[in-house]
Amino acid sequence: MAKEGAKGEALRGSYGAGRTRSYEWRVAQLKGIVKMAEEREKDIVDALYADLAKPETESYLHEISLIKSSCKFALKGLKNWMKPEKVSSSITTFPSTALVVPEPLGVVLIMSAWNYPFILSLDPLIGAIAAGNAAVLKPSEIAPATSSLLAKLLPEYLDNSCIKVVEGAVPETTALLEQKWDKIFYTGNGKVGRIVMAAAAKHLTPVVLELGGKSPVIVDCNVDLKVAVKRIAVGKWGCNNGQACIAPDYIITTKSFAPKLVDALKFCLEKFYGKDPLESKDISRIVNSNHFNRLSNLLDDKLVADKIVHGGQRDEKHLKIAPTLLLDVPDDALIMKEEIFGPLLPIITVDKVEESFGIINSRTKPLAAYLFTKNKKLEEAFVRSVSAGGLLINDVALHLANPHLPFGGVQESGTGSYHGKFSFDAFSHKKAVLSRGFGGEASARYPPYTPQKQKI
Ligand code: NAD
Repeated sequence: MAKEGAKGEALRGSYGAGRTRSYEWRVAQLKGIVKMAEEREKDIVDALYADLAKPETESYLHEISLIKSSCKFALKGLKNWMKPEKVSSSITTFPSTALVVPEPLGVVLIMSAWNYPFILSLDPLIGAIAAGNAAVLKPSEIAPATSSLLAKLLPEYLDNSCIKVVEGAVPETTALLEQKWDKIFYTGNGKVGRIVMAAAAKHLTPVVLELGGKSPVIVDCNVDLKVAVKRIAVGKWGCNNGQACIAPDYIITTKSFAPKLVDALKFCLEKFYGKDPLESKDISRIVNSNHFNRLSNLLDDKLVADKIVHGGQRDEKHLKIAPTLLLDVPDDALIMKEEIFGPLLPIITVDKVEESFGIINSRTKPLAAYLFTKNKKLEEAFVRSVSAGGLLINDVALHLANPHLPFGGVQESGTGSYHGKFSFDAFSHKKAVLSRGFGGEASARYPPYTPQKQKI
């Protein structure tokens, strides 16, 4: 444990010496990440397969390629992001110049989760580096192959005196959290998010918490159903078999439209994953037996026994669960109480689609909310009425691929955001700098405060 403490202190020395500040250092690290992703692509794909049986195409599209574009976006914008921003002066300070100067925060801790273990480790690191910080990365022990690959590769491609990887589970993370950091960026569940925030509070350390929640999908009857179900299916089962923070957690549709939607989803699932999805190579497995048992409990709940309308097959030995649809699950079923984070998709029904907004808003705020409709009025009402980390209309999960949009939750789904320039901002302090000359003296501001001065 002393070792973890020592890592933070060693970085503080390099940071204090100013090593991370220059534009050139930042560029070299970002290029190092691109180089690593290109040269070690096979090792990364293999590690993700070992941890999750993640299909190669998914590993490439959702982890390796996104990391490369994230680095390239930062490389393109960095010079401008680092520039002090000139802002207007006020009459009170006239004459003066006013600047907002971004400066690095210092030595930061990044804790990532197991489900996208490569990108969730490196994407925040890109922001930390771009903003000129030193960083310790703590990958998730639940994806051990990717964690040890990151521990091996980062020192090969990045400046080891300023960027370190600490591997480990709860004891090692607890030791890290006892130290003073200048920012903690945590991705994971809200229970640990609370532990992180409490530890950070002891040192008044700011945090970004990238958490989860139950992300709903509203499906209106006025849609292109063929396209809608393909997008829902790929956003759920094609994203790590539902083990994704913004995967659809449940669907809300109207009673009259539900049978059509279920049929279309079934048809699409069979096309994507065949008649025996447990044998499909295009779908990840469940990460470990704890999560397999957790998901099995949701399915074994008596309240949903007669609600499964598709799927439900399980293979405990290989930790596989088939894409599963459940229709009309009651609100007090376990599956409606917690984030599912797996291949089960309940569908609840309402008389009128507009009722969906009230259902979503009666729960804790989700990380994402989705609406499928051709009705522009419904779309506008959705944007106006539903609160979530992010909204997406007529697709699923894709909003995270736009670097011009902030990615993060609200209330229980998280605090703070990142991606693109937002990542740079998350790891920067915006320093206010006002500069005046010696002219422009106004006698009114100086004592003695005569009655005449009060009237000015
Ligand atoms: P996890 O188990 O990998 O934990 C995340 C991190 O917390 C790990 O680094 C782990 O070592 C650490 N940790 C675990 N227990 C701890 C403890 N008691 N004390 C200190 N540190 C501890 O991941 P998880 O929480 O199972 O991840 C799934 C959750 O993360 C879901 O809720 C999901 O929605 C959310 N998530 C959010 C995002 C996002 O970007 N918002 C992305 C992925 C996952």
